[in-house]
Amino acid sequence: MKYIDEFRDGGLARKLARTIAMEADPARAYRLMEFCGGHTHAIYRYGVQDLMPDNLKFVHGPGCPVCVLPMARIDQAIAMAVEHGVTLCTYGDLMRVPASERRSLLKAKAGGADIRMIYSTQDALTIARRNRERQVVLFAIGFETTTPPTAVALKVARAEGLGNFSVFCNHVLTPPALKTILASAGPDGVQLDGILGPSHVSTIIGSRPYEFVPAAFAKPVVIAGFEPLDVMQSTLMLVRQINAHRCTVENQYTRAVTRDGNAKAQALMDEVFAVRERFEWRGLGYLPASALRLADAYADFDAEQRFPVAPGHGKEIKGCECPSVLRGTMEPTDCKLFGTVCTPENPMGACMVSSEGACAAYWSYGRFRKKGSEPIMKKGSGPF
Ligand code: SF4
Repeated sequence: MKYIDEFRDGGLARKLARTIAMEADPARAYRLMEFCGGHTHAIYRYGVQDLMPDNLKFVHGPGCPVCVLPMARIDQAIAMAVEHGVTLCTYGDLMRVPASERRSLLKAKAGGADIRMIYSTQDALTIARRNRERQVVLFAIGFETTTPPTAVALKVARAEGLGNFSVFCNHVLTPPALKTILASAGPDGVQLDGILGPSHVSTIIGSRPYEFVPAAFAKPVVIAGFEPLDVMQSTLMLVRQINAHRCTVENQYTRAVTRDGNAKAQALMDEVFAVRERFEWRGLGYLPASALRLADAYADFDAEQRFPVAPGHGKEIKGCECPSVLRGTMEPTDCKLFGTVCTPENPMGACMVSSEGACAAYWSYGRFRKKGSEPIMKKGSGPF
């Protein structure tokens, strides 16, 4: 398949791995953060970490929208469905994320709440059109990638006069989270030498918003595509910048990302959303100007105003290290619950549930197992 097969070529991967091993300076370590959970899964699915020299380590970032959503927001969504009796539309990943007191959207649904799994914002609109007597709330989450479709849904709802449709907005912004991670470097924070920038987010915002990273933190950034060869080529580009003591924003994913991004999508976001003063992120705390709310012109469609609920408890499960995993200061296998109490069938934290979570990536592809032990491999997921 064009743009897929050629970026999964085993021969080229081995060649790139040899070049990285040759060019990586054995006298130093390379700690590269892949911000996006999609990259974490690509790295573990295709065994990219195993192809790297021992002194090059990928550090997982907070770029998983389900994982960074604080538990309190899931508590609030459940309260909207249970206390206000709305039809809550949500993506599948969120259904099993633990909420406070061992609840979840799935358990609330089993208890009688009208919670429906959707695949797109258009599904939520369809449910609203077909059920005019019911209030339908879209539980909207995600980084800049998924924000424009929510904006389109709101514009369509307004144009059609869908008064029973509203949005519980949890869209978050990438640059403030990246800034927080980099600013936390120190004895308690994560030490990084470079950043693999997200793919999908960057198709919307472009590469320009990352230019503060070299300017303020003297670290290189390479915007990387999602396929294994994309990740490996981007890694080589970072190694070369680090070796040359350069730091700039480079774009490996030129087939989809430009410096200025998608102007149409950005205009849509500016029209429909406004930046919140602050927002809570799991693992990172309250970050200023790091999330979106509905703009005043769309306040009629704001579920938080239409269906007020008390702030959730947001009490994390004892022993779950998701906050540290999201900050890059712990690996999933450092968590005592990993693979014992916590598995995808019985998740204790969002990082094990989400298809972009770091714990799920470690578990699904079995890379945490010591060499020689029985690997847990899905068909087609092995290394080159
Ligand atoms: S393994 Fe489970 S409990 Fe531990 S950090 Fe990951 S999601 Fe949380």
